[in-house]
Formats: sequence, C-alpha cells, structure tokens
Amino acid sequence: MSESEVPETFRDSVSHMVDRAMGYLDLPEGAREAVKTCDSVIQVSFPIRFRDRIEVFKGWRAVHSAHRLPAKGGLRFSPTMDQDHAEALAALMTYKCAIVDIPFGGSKGGLRIDPQKYNEWEMERITRRFAHELIQRDYISPAQNVPAPDVGTSQREMAWIMETYRDRHPEDLDHAASVTGKPVELGGIRGRLEATGRGVQYALQAFFREGSAAREAGFEGGLGDQRIIIQGFGNVGYYAARFLQEDDHAKIVGVIKSDGGVYSEDGIDIEALHDYVRRSGTMEGFAGVEFVRDGNRIMERECDILIPAALEGAIHRDNVDQIQARLIAEAANGPCTWEADQALRDRGVTILPDVYVNAGGVIVSYFEWVRNLSHMRFGRLERRYDQAQGQHIVSAIEMMTNESVPEWIRDAVVRGAEEIDLVRSGLDDAMREAFREMHEVREMESNGEVLDYRTAAYLIALRKIIRARSDLKLI
Ligand code: NAD
Repeated sequence: MSESEVPETFRDSVSHMVDRAMGYLDLPEGAREAVKTCDSVIQVSFPIRFRDRIEVFKGWRAVHSAHRLPAKGGLRFSPTMDQDHAEALAALMTYKCAIVDIPFGGSKGGLRIDPQKYNEWEMERITRRFAHELIQRDYISPAQNVPAPDVGTSQREMAWIMETYRDRHPEDLDHAASVTGKPVELGGIRGRLEATGRGVQYALQAFFREGSAAREAGFEGGLGDQRIIIQGFGNVGYYAARFLQEDDHAKIVGVIKSDGGVYSEDGIDIEALHDYVRRSGTMEGFAGVEFVRDGNRIMERECDILIPAALEGAIHRDNVDQIQARLIAEAANGPCTWEADQALRDRGVTILPDVYVNAGGVIVSYFEWVRNLSHMRFGRLERRYDQAQGQHIVSAIEMMTNESVPEWIRDAVVRGAEEIDLVRSGLDDAMREAFREMHEVREMESNGEVLDYRTAAYLIALRKIIRARSDLKLI
C-alpha cells in the first residue's frame, strides 16, 4: 500500500502506520510482508441450543507472530467483531509486547455477539463452547496462546475459559496460566483488573516527568494542571480517569460512554459518576454536569488531554479537525485512523500511541502468567523477612542517634512489600523504561528529524521482532 492510499480497514490502518516506521529501516525484500502478515488465523462456528431456539455463533483467533511463545492477547465479545479486527488487534499485540519488553508473541480473538442480549447462564454456555473450540485446536494453552479480557469480556469469562481448559487437560499442572485477567481467587493477580487504566496513568506521568517532552508538546505545569476528556468509561477508561483524578489531581472535564457523555468545566467526581452509572446504567441525570446524548461531540470540546478509551476509529476524517486537545493518549486500540493520525501530526498534536499507552494490561498479564507457572504469590517468601530487616535498621538508627525515627518513615521502612506493591512497581518500571526508550529513539533517529512517538515505538518494536525472527530463520 502506498503512503497516499487511504486504508479502508482497521488492519490496513495499522499496516500503514507500521510501514511508516519500516521506511526508516533497511530491510531485505519481502521482510516487510513477512513481519506484517499474521502467522495464522482460525475461524470457528458453532451452534448453541437454547430452550426455544438454536443459534450459530462465529468467532476468530489470530496469531500475528509466534516468534515468542505463548502468543498473548485479549478476547473481544462484540457485534462488530470479525477477522479483520482479530488480525489488526493481534498485530498491535506483537508490537506492544516488544515495546514494553514482554516475552510474548501477539494474538487476539473474539466472538461476534452482543453480550447485552444474553443472560449469565447463556453467556456461560456460549463462552465455554467457544473456549472448547479454541482449546481443541491449540488456540488456548499456557505454552502457546493465552487470552485475557478485552471489550465485552471480564474476569468472569476468563474464569469460565480457564475451567474449560482445566476440564480438558486435568493433567496440566499449569492450567491456571491458560488465561490471564482471572479473579484472584482462581489464581489471578492483584492489580490486573485495573492494570490497563493504571498503565495509562503511568504513561502520562512518564510523559510529564520528562520535562522536555511536555514542553515540546506545549504544556505548562504538571499532569495535575491539565483538563482531561475521556471517551469510554469501561474497564480502561474508568480506572484511568479515577487514578488520574485521585493520585495526580488532574481535572476530568468530560466522560463519554456509548449512550451519551457528560461535561463540566469544574471537573467531574469520577467515583460518584461511576457509582451513579452502576446503579442507573446511564450517565443521564447525574447532578451538576451537562449531559450530551451524542456523547462523542464532547471529544471536540476544549481540553488539554484527550484519552480515547473506547473503540478503534474514534478519531477520524470527519471529526479530526474539531479535536482541540494538545495531547492524545491512546488508551483504546487504534482510536485514531490513519488519516486522523496524519492530520493530527500535521497540526502538531502529540499522540502517545496505543501500543505503548495501553500496554499495562499485558504487562500485568505477564506477571500473572509467571505467578501461575511458579504456583506462588509474589512477595510470599520475603515479606516477613523484609519487615524484620527493616525493623533492625530502624532500631539500629534509633540506638545510634538516641532519637526516634518518625512514624511515617518507620512505617515505610518496616513494611514488607505485598503482591500489589510489587505489581505496581513492575508496571511503573516497564512504562517508564519504554517511555525513556521511545523518547530517546525519536530524537536520535534520522538526521535531526524528530519522529512522532508512534513511529519511534514501532521502530523499537520492529528492530526487536526482526532480530528475533531472523535468529529463528523466520525471515
Ligand atoms: P469495556 O467494554 O470495558 O468499555 C468500553 C467503553 O467504551 C464503554 O464505556 C462503552 O460505553 C464505551 N463505548 C463503546 N462504544 C462507544 C462509542 N461508539 N462511543 C463512545 N463510547 C463507546 O472495554 P475496555 O476493556 O475498557 O476496552 C476499551 C479499549 O481498550 C479497547 O480498544 C480495548 O481493546 C483496549 N484495551 C483493553 C484492555 C483491557 O485490559 N481491558 C487492555 C488493552 C487495551
């Protein structure tokens, strides 16, 4: 596809963005296609008999690159799911894992279904049957392919899938590692539920910590001084909004869901809004804000940072000129189409790309997978030992100085790390390191030209993937 061609599908859009980065690499003929093409895609169809009817469901699982195993990526349950989505999202997973240094290949899949139309009993039957179809073809297993939640799926579906895998492979001691994003009671890890939103927060913190990045993008002040609009109030959008408000004191001025959005220049109380939505199912009627039925128009309001955290293609040819934010942090996968991406870059809008910003989910999934293979919670061996060591240090200081160590220092030193502390520390480290690398690459590449973050991110990923694939003689 040439630079000027307009990509028609999600997969083409991703492919165009990768091509832009590939232009900076000296690659042998054919290598581009070898890296971009999905290794394998499976489509399954299966009937389910309900009390009064039989329905046929269609699902997909794509493995974009198995240069590292297992291949990793979510399962999406959505009426718009198709093979193109599976392939595009699987490719994003490959690049994402490489950027944040997670030793997985990329995969993604899903079922074409509107989960709202089925009750829990029906969803369980459909999910278990879909899992069965994938398991028997080796498209789910701890060693080869490990799903996680995405749009329309959650801990609940992951629990059903894991149990289906265990029932088929009772001899597999590592069955818990066949999915990530499970409930903690079934071997999930603390911090996975909110990991993607937490990662979005850490990405923005990393950006503002690096003063030159924020200044270059035209920002004054820190993250806490910014006004933010968030599209999507599901797993990713809600936690990102909550943490940015609670910890960074950023002002969330707009929140958008599929059935409408709310806006307030004074800022929106995210916990109160979340509570309201949980009780009433809508944001309409929430006190002290303006409700807009055509919620996505709120993305066009004045703000400093826009966080699209819903679906792909949210910012496109028809609304891109109205976007006023100076920074777009792509929490969703593929929220800017290729055309929108170009238009935003031309206008000098900074984009932190999806393959970096929403990597928190797969980073913590990696911790969960390792925890499942080791069959032990992180911190279990060392917590009390660290506590005792800390106590000795505090006692030694007090003996030598004849003064008491202030309570807050004592608490911090004496407290042994719990699993959630270690997960947050590991996630923060991965997001900081990846940002540092992206920032360095964008300034060092190509004769004084400063690259955009997306191209820099893809360059980092492509170099790692191409090295691994050529070592394995895959290209
Ligand atoms: P979710 O289903 O929990 O939430 C999606 C939200 O988007 C909902 O609030 C919904 O109302 C809103 N939405 C859907 N269509 C919309 C539209 N047309 N206009 C406005 N709002 C709309 O999904 P999620 O898990 O939060 O995932 C959101 C995005 O983040 C997806 O692109 C997904 O691939 C990506 N992502 C998710 C994870 C994860 O761990 N869940 C990890 C990485 C990336």
